[in-house]
Amino acid sequence: MRTDVRYPVTVVGSWPRPSWLLEAMKRRSPALADLQDQATLLAIKFQEDAGVDIISDGEQRRDNFYSFIAERLEGIRLMTLAELLDYVEDKAAFENLLNALDVPAFAIRNPVVIGKVRRRKPLAMDDYRFLREHTRKAVKITLPGPYLLSRSTWVKGLSDSTYPDGDTLGNDIVAVLREELKELAEAGAEMVQFDEPVLSELLLAGRSATRTFMCAALAASSSPEGELERAVNLLNRTVERIHGPVVSVHVCRGNWSRNEEVLLSGSYDGLIPYLNRMNLDQFVLEYATPRAGSPRALAALRPPAQIGYGVVNPRTADVESVDEIVHRVRELTEVVSSDRIFLNPDCGFGTFAERPVADASTAFAKLGALAAAAKKLRAS
Ligand SMILES: [Zn+2]
Repeated sequence: MRTDVRYPVTVVGSWPRPSWLLEAMKRRSPALADLQDQATLLAIKFQEDAGVDIISDGEQRRDNFYSFIAERLEGIRLMTLAELLDYVEDKAAFENLLNALDVPAFAIRNPVVIGKVRRRKPLAMDDYRFLREHTRKAVKITLPGPYLLSRSTWVKGLSDSTYPDGDTLGNDIVAVLREELKELAEAGAEMVQFDEPVLSELLLAGRSATRTFMCAALAASSSPEGELERAVNLLNRTVERIHGPVVSVHVCRGNWSRNEEVLLSGSYDGLIPYLNRMNLDQFVLEYATPRAGSPRALAALRPPAQIGYGVVNPRTADVESVDEIVHRVRELTEVVSSDRIFLNPDCGFGTFAERPVADASTAFAKLGALAAAAKKLRAS
C-alpha cells in the first residue's frame, strides 16, 4: 500500500456533488462526462488538502452508491421507490415504512432486474483509472455488495421471468463482482470496499421489519439469521482466491436522513459472529454516534481483521474536535491493537446525489479534524 502510516485516514466513499453537476445530471447534459471528471478532480483535491491518506473518487459519476450499476450492466432498469410501490406485495406497509423512516421516495432510485445480468462496461474500472491518473495517494474503490444487489434488484413481477428468485440472481451478481474485483486487483487498486448497508438493518430493525426500504422485495418470511448467512456466503464467493487489494465491507446504521431518531440504533454485537466468517481484510463500521454503543464490542472481531473505525458523523453541522476523536480512538485501542485501526467518517457525505447529508466545506473540515487526530495519535 502507498501508505504505511499508523491510523491511516480514509473515507467511506461519496462526496457531496457540486450544484452544477446535479443540474447537469438532471438535464442529462451532453457535457456530463466532462463535468463528472471536473467534479472528481475537486473531490480528490478536497481529500488531499484535508490530509486523507487513502482517497476515493467521491462517487461523482454515480447517482447513488448502487443505482449507477443500471448504466453499466445489461438487464437492469432504474425505478424510483415511488414507482416500485406498485410491485411491492404489501403496498401499504411499504409506504408506511418509507414515511416512518423519512425516506425520500421520489429522490432515491433503485436498480431493478428486468433481464439477464451481465457487464455492458466495467462497474468501477474506468473510475479507478481516472483516480489513479490524478493522485499519488493510495485509493479506495467502492462497489455495492453482492447481498444488497441480489436483494434490492429482484422484484416480483419484474425480475422473476429471468430469475425465479434472488438466489439464482445472486450467482450472476457474484460473477459480475468477481470479474470487477479481479481486474481492480490486477490494476493495483489498494482498497476495494463492498457496501452492504442493510446488514445491520436486518439485525437491528427486528423481525417485523425485514422488508427494508432498500430491499422492497425481501421476502417477509425470511429470518434475519437466514439473510445474514446468505450475505456471508455471497461475499465469500465474491472474493474467493482473489488477492491484492485490502478488501472491506461497510455496514451502515442509516445515512438517508439527518433525523437521528429514525436511524438504526443498537450494538454491532450480534453481527460480529457473521463478520468473523467473512473472508475479508477490513470491516468499516459506524461508531460516531451513541446509537452504536461501545466499541468494546469489537474485541470479539477476529484478528488480524482491520477496523475502518467511523469516528466523525457525516450528518451533523458541528465539526468534531480533535480531542474528541482521539478519545474515541483510545477507547478502541483498549481492546484492539493500533495496527488494525483505520480512521474514517461513519459513512459517505453524499450517499444520495440529490440529498447529500453534508456540504463540501463541512465535509472538508471533518476530514481535516480526522487527519489532525491521526497525527496526534501517531505522535503519542
Ligand atoms: Zn454507511
